[in-house]
Parts: sequence; structure tokens; C-alpha cells
Amino acid sequence: MREDLQQIKQRISLLDYLQHRNWTGRRAGRREEFVGLCPLHPDTQPSFYVNAHKNLFYCHGCQRGGDLIRFVELSERLSFRDSLARLKQEITVTSEAELLQRTAAFYQAQLQRHSQAVEYLQQRSLHDADLIEELGIGFAPGGNLLRYLAALGYSLDLLLRTGLVNRNSRDAFCRRIIFPCWQQGRMMNLYGRSIGSAFPHRLLPRSKGDLFAWESVRAFSSVILVEGLFDLAVLWQAGFRNTTCGIGTHLTPAQWSQLCDQPGRCVYIAFDQDANQAGQQASQLLAQKLHSTGLQARIISLPAGHDPNSYFAAGATASEFRTCLKHAQAL
Ligand SMILES: [Zn+2]
Repeated sequence: MREDLQQIKQRISLLDYLQHRNWTGRRAGRREEFVGLCPLHPDTQPSFYVNAHKNLFYCHGCQRGGDLIRFVELSERLSFRDSLARLKQEITVTSEAELLQRTAAFYQAQLQRHSQAVEYLQQRSLHDADLIEELGIGFAPGGNLLRYLAALGYSLDLLLRTGLVNRNSRDAFCRRIIFPCWQQGRMMNLYGRSIGSAFPHRLLPRSKGDLFAWESVRAFSSVILVEGLFDLAVLWQAGFRNTTCGIGTHLTPAQWSQLCDQPGRCVYIAFDQDANQAGQQASQLLAQKLHSTGLQARIISLPAGHDPNSYFAAGATASEFRTCLKHAQAL
């Protein structure tokens, strides 16, 4: 318990914790002191002071104060013990996000060094260098992640647990194009598309994260929902920045509530046109579900056998896709 306390105090600053929960404070008179609205009571005049040096807060409105653990107790209404557990969990999540970010940056640096990866992107019709950079796309050539991360102090045990490295100490994402997936500003997963004969899709055994790029896409009153990240990438490249992706046709409960967070929204569904009708059936089901939630749903039909990515790779233009949008069927 005492060790936990020490660890928490060293690893999480009260100010970071608050800012991560959208608290904003301005510098108050003394150095390292900040003042803002109190998150613990309805506040109109900034009365909540944080001393970043001492890691303490005090509110002149509700007269409560203390350290980070006290803050968690009050804001989450948890016992001391449960607050500690919550903060330990926070440390795990933060440090795993950091590990994924380092891995993604490492893979991103490999991309241009491997012509097979660059050729694969071209073959999938993805050629805008700025967009490739913006999406953080990388390549895992395989065999070198462990050495890199071990030199940064990460244990093999942790890498096995997160699934980045397999039992043979090889990169789990070997010979895959990598897309980082985010959740509320934190890197939550990596998606790897095989460029060889291995099973095409791979994610780490953890949450898929938010609907892709939701923080920017949610502002649009109509959004395009696709199955795969390559579909999304070519649509963004063609200027359809209102495209998001749930990675697969099944949305997690969190992704579903994101999609429905604005009542009048119109959702264009552009899943794969599969020979076995799987994509079409998933589109129908989702459209019905959206409809019954009060959203508008439209199903885009592409030429048989196509998904948005293959449609563009086969030479379709933005204006041809716009025509598909225009003809999309309402339920
Ligand atoms: Zn207060």
C-alpha cells in the first residue's frame, strides 16, 4: 500500500490528472499555482487552486482540499482504497499507451526504408505522403522491435502481455502495415494489415479504441462509415474527411454511442460488397438500428465485389464516389 502510494505520487501529477479530464486553469499569482473552476461543486467564479509543485488542491468555494488521492475520492466518490486502485489502473493505461506510441513511432520510421511496404501502399492507391504521415502509418518489417524496446527498458514480459511480441521474441505484427488507433487522446491499439500471406487483419488483444478520428469527424452532420482503414485512407485522400471507421462491421458499444451522439446525424454506410452478402447484411442491420435510434441511415452501393478502397484503386474518382453518395439508399 505504501509502495503504491509512492508510485502514484511519483508517476501522476495532480495537474496532469486534472488536465486530462479537461480542467483548465490559468496561472495564479505565485509560480506553479493555477486557478480554475472547481470540478467538485457548481462553480461560476474560479475558486479551485492547484499547487503543481506540492501536488495539492484547495477550493475556496466548497472548502475542500488535499492531494490527488483525495481528489479522486471526492470526484469519483470512491473510498481511499478504491481511489488507489483507480489510480494504479490509470498508471497502467498511461504507460501502455506510451509503449504503443513508441512502437508506432518505431514502425513509422521503418516505412520508407522498405520498398515492399511503399509499393503495397501504392497498390492500395494510397500515395499522399502528408496523409500517410498524418495517419501515422508505419511498417513492421519484423524481428527488430524487441531489441529496440528492450534498449528503452521495457521487459519481455510486458511486451508479451501487450501482444506486441510473440513467444519466439518476434514482432507479432511482422510484415504488416501499421495504423495506430486512438481512444480519448491516448493510443489504444495498433491495426496491422499483412502484406504477405498471413491472415490479413490483426489487432492487439485490447479495445479497438474510438471510431477512427472521431474527434474531427464528429463535427460533420453527415458521416461515412467504412469497414477498413484502407477504405478510410483513400476516402480522406479523395477529400471525404467525414469518413470514420470502426475496424470491421461490428461496432463496440462505445463506438456505437459515438456514432449516435448527435440526433440528426446522417450516416452513410459503405461496407464491402461481399459475394457471400456479409457486408450487405451488416449494412442493413446497422441501418435499421440507426434508424430506430432516430438517425438517418443510407447504404452506399459500390460495383459488385468492391469496397471503397478497391473502388478507388480501380481508378474511381472523387466525383464518381460523390455520385454513389447521391444514389445511396435511405432505409
Ligand atoms: Zn469547490
